Amino acid sequence: VVDTKLIQALDSAHFLHPFTDFKDLNDRGARVITKAEGVYVWDSEGKRMLDAMSGLWCVNVGYGRKELADAAYQQMMALPYYNSFFQTTNVPAVQLAAKLASLAPKVGDRSFKHVFYSSSGSESNDSNVRMVRRYWDLLGQPERKVIISRNNAYHGSTMAGASLGGMSGMHAQGDLPIPNITHIEQPYYFENGKPGETAEEFGVRAAGWLEEKILAVGVDKVAAFIAEPVQGAGGVIIPPSTYWPEIQRIVDKYGILLISDEVICAFGRLGHWFGYEKFGYKPDLVTFAKGITSGYIPLGGVMVGNRVAEVLIEKGGEFNHGYTYSGHPVACAVALANIEIMEREHLVEGVRGELGAYFAKRYAELNAHPLVGAAETCGFVGGLVLVKNKQTKERFKEEDAVGMVCRAHCFNNGLIMRAVGDRMIIAPPLVMTHADIDALMDLIHMALDKTLVELKA
Ligand code: PLP
Repeated sequence: VVDTKLIQALDSAHFLHPFTDFKDLNDRGARVITKAEGVYVWDSEGKRMLDAMSGLWCVNVGYGRKELADAAYQQMMALPYYNSFFQTTNVPAVQLAAKLASLAPKVGDRSFKHVFYSSSGSESNDSNVRMVRRYWDLLGQPERKVIISRNNAYHGSTMAGASLGGMSGMHAQGDLPIPNITHIEQPYYFENGKPGETAEEFGVRAAGWLEEKILAVGVDKVAAFIAEPVQGAGGVIIPPSTYWPEIQRIVDKYGILLISDEVICAFGRLGHWFGYEKFGYKPDLVTFAKGITSGYIPLGGVMVGNRVAEVLIEKGGEFNHGYTYSGHPVACAVALANIEIMEREHLVEGVRGELGAYFAKRYAELNAHPLVGAAETCGFVGGLVLVKNKQTKERFKEEDAVGMVCRAHCFNNGLIMRAVGDRMIIAPPLVMTHADIDALMDLIHMALDKTLVELKA
């Protein structure tokens, strides 16, 4: 039995939580999560909650998978750790690299044979910055340093990750972005579409902001463009179908590298092993983390496309970069077991197929709710914007904190849904059944109804 009050007191006394107002949390007391099974988590008071965020976009195979614990245990007993610096390697890291290469679809010179490992998405994006700059250095174009990203993107919390990210609140703390990182506007049709403009027209216009930025910076200074296939932490911003093909045309035209940050979107989240497959573009580098182990143990990395890998290998000599835990054997063993579960249970096909279609259909019903401006899904991510006036699309003011009001009703009703400003977002485990989806939709409707009542009071 957990003594909730004691744990909360110790939490307040000693644990500085990420992305948290410390004082506010101390006043409220943290919710102590003690166990989880399937798609549900429980707190120390015995309250059960449907985890529609898969932890933090990561528990793709759901909770309570003994096979993953067994894989970690067996690997720890055989070889708990060894580095990959001393011209040494380990079996799970090699097997996983080969497995990832086999899962990534081959598209000409953009196929993937190589992996660089880290322990998180943030570290991986730092590696990306160093890798793309090294690539251009080796090609004799060291002035190509600028990486273009997007406003409201999330690429991690390290200095480079937070700089690549487009969150103004993060830039304001710590004197960011670091030099040679610049941003364009995100493809958010609901907010940025012009009256009378179709989503498809908007997608082309939004991609055009990249071309404008490349020309403004100077083509010979641009190293790469980085983006999430679907912007996740920014509020599940799903691009129109025309966006990515136009981005591909532009990066090809100017020869710049394309980094697809798939920390959320890979490993089945969009109904494919990798998010870029969903939209049909051809990245040079793919950032991964989270879902590769379903969050059971930290692991991240970069899939390095042949175009980049060949230059690093053939011309590079030593790449002065790496982490103690690059290719950690236990993390890689868990990842292999996790991928095995996903293959055996056809979880990726489920999201791409009938189950995903059912989720999309049920989620679209939210569009009828008086508080919902637009509700959209892509694979197993969903977002909706809460509006004051459905007809005029009038938004709530920041001080209304409408997302937080709705989130509180979700929690109180046993649903974990995330609020990003006035957007409510979900990324449920890929093991959701039809009945789980029905339960999820009932809970969302209930939370929206209660939010509406509270706002009218
Ligand atoms: N990139 C994206 C797209 C993410 O969503 C995240 C985390 O949410 C990161 C990078 C950072 O990953 P991590 O928290 O593992 O450092």
